[in-house]
Amino acid sequence: MGDLDRLLAFDQDHVWHPYSSALVHDPRFLVDSASGVRLRLRHADGSSQDVIDAMSSWWCAIHGYAVPELDAAAHRQLDQMSHVMFGGLTHEPAIALAERLVSLTPDPLQHVFFADSGSVSVEVAMKMALQLQVGTGSTRTRFFTIRGGYHGDTFSPMSVTDPVGGMHSLFSGILPQHVFAPVPPAGVDVPDDDPAMVAWERETRSLYAAHAHEVAAVILEPVLQGAGGMRFHSPYAVRVLASLAREHGALVIFDEIATGFGRTGTLFALERAEVVPDILCLGKALTGGYLTLAAVLCTSEVARGVSSQAAGGALMHGPTFMANPLACAVALASLDLLRANDFARQVATLEAGLTTGLAAADGLESVVDVRVLGGVGVVQLGEPVRAAEVTAAALARGVWVRPFRDLVYTMPPYVTAADDLATICDAMVAAVADVHG
Ligand SMILES: *Cc1c(COP(=O)(O)O)cnc(C)c1O
Repeated sequence: MGDLDRLLAFDQDHVWHPYSSALVHDPRFLVDSASGVRLRLRHADGSSQDVIDAMSSWWCAIHGYAVPELDAAAHRQLDQMSHVMFGGLTHEPAIALAERLVSLTPDPLQHVFFADSGSVSVEVAMKMALQLQVGTGSTRTRFFTIRGGYHGDTFSPMSVTDPVGGMHSLFSGILPQHVFAPVPPAGVDVPDDDPAMVAWERETRSLYAAHAHEVAAVILEPVLQGAGGMRFHSPYAVRVLASLAREHGALVIFDEIATGFGRTGTLFALERAEVVPDILCLGKALTGGYLTLAAVLCTSEVARGVSSQAAGGALMHGPTFMANPLACAVALASLDLLRANDFARQVATLEAGLTTGLAAADGLESVVDVRVLGGVGVVQLGEPVRAAEVTAAALARGVWVRPFRDLVYTMPPYVTAADDLATICDAMVAAVADVHG
């Protein structure tokens, strides 16, 4: 057995991958290195293949791989210290990053909690909202959200993730029951007075009214629902949900783990809706895909409420790897690069290229929708994607995609050049055409 065969066999037999089965072998590709927008795959015959990463490693690697500025920041920090506990100690990377996040986000967001993953940041956001209730003597313990969302895989985030896509049925009796409004009408540009929007608002308002007395917070991904189905909704729908919370004394939590740092065209999606949440979750692209780090920002009002004696006197959370210095240092360098590279121009260029490049998918028999928003390009089929086949067909054209459900999509690195972006689009369209027709 060759070296690669042995590695992959052990991997299949012993190593869990995301949403993987220990019984069914799925195709797995070994990556030896990555540079620019390309992953270097190792093949069984000893050859290697450079493929364009159309996924940005699950939307994180916005500047691509082996980025000199990020490498340098990591090396510099490594020479100082790679980690130190955050209880009772502090350090410049965390302070500087907190300062930057406070300055980049809307003014009222003044306090930063560093978590070690997006899911944990949503846990913390939900915990903040609930602790605040304890402090005010309120008995509200439920969250209000929309269907089709995704907030992570630990239990609290899972409980506000779409009940069907989130597999609530597997955990019924354990997951808290929260309140789910319908998915808003599809499209960023749906007019506020569109009949579908009017009907959605009416239904959502009446559902909210029935639960207002028990809702502690509204939580949602503004404008773009990511892993829940790559759906876009209008800023107006975001405003409706936020205003419901405000009218009824609940908090607003925005999960911008996917949309943060420019992916939809603005630095944060909340800018489109012109809503300032009470609590904001950031993650994924925060470190440019180098290390795992997330952040929860909240208003001074929330921070004071959570810290009041009645609420327990402190925010009761503290991950071992909280504010990891290495991750914070790289995040700062990534934010510098975002500005230096003019992310808004980069993402606008991606949007134009994706719109042109994916247009051909519209003509395919199997395709029901093609949509683009910022650096997100989605081809939706009328049936579940035969993912292994589509992946293989795209790889044969030099592109890595990871379809799910009925979706073949791309979120390329912002630095993707025009010809590489065209290759991504052509590969997606051809792979869908080959496999599904
Ligand atoms: C990915 C994601 C999460 C979970 O983040 P992890 O780092 O995978 O735990 C939560 N919310 C949204 C919107 C995400 O896209």
